[in-house]
Amino acid sequence: MDMDVKWAKDKKFALSKEAAAFLADKSRHKLLIDGEWVDAASGETFPAIDPASGQTIAHIAAGGKEDVNRAVKVARRAFEEGPWAKMSAANRGKLLWKLADLLEERATAFAEIESLDNGKPVVAAEAADLPLSIETIRYIAGWATKVTGQAHHFEPCFAPGEEFFSYTLKEPVGVVGQVIPWNFPLLMATWKIAPALAAGCTVVLKPAEQTSMTALWLGQLIEEAGFPKGVVNIITGFGETAGAAVASHPDIDKVAFTGSTEVGKLIVKAATGNLKKVSLELGGKSPAVVFPDADLDLAIPGAANAIFFNVGQVCTAGSRLYVHKSIFDKVLDGVAEQAKAIKVGPGLDRETQMGPLVSEEQLKRVTGYMALGFDEGARAVCGGKQIGEEGFFVEPTVLVDVGPDMKVVREEIFGPVVVAQPFEDLDEIAKVANDTEYGLASSVWTRDVNKAHRMARKIEAGTVWVNCHHVFDPSIPFGGYKQSGWGRELGQEVMDLYLQTKAVMMKL
Ligand code: ADP
Repeated sequence: MDMDVKWAKDKKFALSKEAAAFLADKSRHKLLIDGEWVDAASGETFPAIDPASGQTIAHIAAGGKEDVNRAVKVARRAFEEGPWAKMSAANRGKLLWKLADLLEERATAFAEIESLDNGKPVVAAEAADLPLSIETIRYIAGWATKVTGQAHHFEPCFAPGEEFFSYTLKEPVGVVGQVIPWNFPLLMATWKIAPALAAGCTVVLKPAEQTSMTALWLGQLIEEAGFPKGVVNIITGFGETAGAAVASHPDIDKVAFTGSTEVGKLIVKAATGNLKKVSLELGGKSPAVVFPDADLDLAIPGAANAIFFNVGQVCTAGSRLYVHKSIFDKVLDGVAEQAKAIKVGPGLDRETQMGPLVSEEQLKRVTGYMALGFDEGARAVCGGKQIGEEGFFVEPTVLVDVGPDMKVVREEIFGPVVVAQPFEDLDEIAKVANDTEYGLASSVWTRDVNKAHRMARKIEAGTVWVNCHHVFDPSIPFGGYKQSGWGRELGQEVMDLYLQTKAVMMKL
């Protein structure tokens, strides 16, 4: 096997036969264009790296502009001609169900590959990433047959007495480019691909260069499920090349992006050439607000999980913790205790609760922010350092003595680093929570139902969790206020991202 990973040599970290076979089979680490697995036009590859060891686990085709052009051509053809263009919504839904079943059959092996490629604990991938991916596909498969237009009989305002009949058609937007991040690689692929296919679009997917493996394997299952050739094309490669080619392509009708706000702005600029439709799910600096009447048995582990889940590499991470002054020390001690108890290690170890950061670049970014915080005058109640020298591990970190203008309070760190601040004025805390350019998520911890609902109204964010954090379900719309994005994924609303409305009017 072309693999030199320390963890994998240890029996404790052994991969299932299926996962090992996927990893070993080089013919499966290529671009998917028109139903074929092909090398990049340039012939170039780049390494997939295990973040727990820093070692290469596979070589992936480095797709570029030429490959994106080819993929868009076949996606256009598949959209306009052939079986997909004529396929009924019910049959599109059935194919999606089949895909979900195939994924479910291989859930354990997918969780292992996700863990090896991204670093996340395999138990977390099994508990969260896989079931959410599978159920997202199933939930959205149902929408294929349920999206309908509306009929309407009307008298036009300019010609009272005349009769008109109108109806609306919901039509697929066309060829869709989808650029996804590395924090939930498979889940983000399913969030993107499933609604596009349910709507009848065709897809060019660009996975994150740090984590291409499960998207490629999903591509195989898409072929196995029986989707016609060219309906889903996968171009692995770098953001500045393959990603930029997707965003600027003149024959892509819509680009859907999840990633940083910085790159989201580049996508918007690149999309202006043909004014393609754009949806964005971007960064966050989400507040978790603990009121004095909160149930601390819930709030303390809740606030810890809000920041430490997935090593803080979650756009909805509760990275700003506001705790009422009267309980600040107690809550902070509790969160720090939780942080210290987290078992950090390689994701494939089933005892591991927190894996490494995804890449050396992220390690530098997160430790850089820790250093910046200390320079700015912050103090670590716990953590604050890299762990060891192998792999990209950092300590779960709680920073105090921070102020509203400090960079660690304002900027998204995307690591297990929370900044905690006490508050006094119950009426002012919503303003403080909203003092950010982001608006993705938030959580409110209180036993007072009135306070919870009032805060929910005041907070400028796409999601408000009450007495919980990081709760996701395919049926609940998700997306950002302010600079956290455009549009909503999941729920019924996701279908709007991939459909356009045509009004048909007839004079009676
Ligand atoms: P992060 O900063 O957390 O790595 P990014 O926003 O850079 O997240 O990456 C998210 C996705 O965007 C990845 O698939 C990446 O390859 C892609 N990407 C990065 N830069 C660009 C770009 N200039 N144009 C299009 N896609 C890009």
